[in-house]
Amino acid sequence: MFCRIAARQTPADIEYEDEAVLAFKDIYPKAPVHLLIIPKRHIESLARLEPGDAELVGRCVLVARELGERAGYAERGYRLSCNCGPEGGQVVYHLHFHFTAGRR
Ligand code: 5GP
Repeated sequence: MFCRIAARQTPADIEYEDEAVLAFKDIYPKAPVHLLIIPKRHIESLARLEPGDAELVGRCVLVARELGERAGYAERGYRLSCNCGPEGGQVVYHLHFHFTAGRR
């Protein structure tokens, strides 16, 4: 599903894009700001990461920092989280990081 968003075959409110990473608004936001940061390349979950993915994951985290600054939350703070697997609450099996802000 998120591959389709990355390929622009499914619409989404895109907030950030570069050649490797995409960030877009969560369709069911759980906080005033709720974005999903994904690698464009399909990786099923955090559990499927390989050592060679370290740079890509680092880029996702740096995009979170960028989004925090852009949205004016650099000082107030925000949360970056990743659900992994059935007991971790993962529903969509394309690696994604939740960026949430605006609620304690
Ligand atoms: P998970 O539980 O897998 O960590 O979170 C999946 C997230 O993706 C949920 O917060 C859900 O609201 C969001 N989501 C699911 N389908 C879509 C979609 O088609 N578009 C967007 N923008 N978000 C989606």
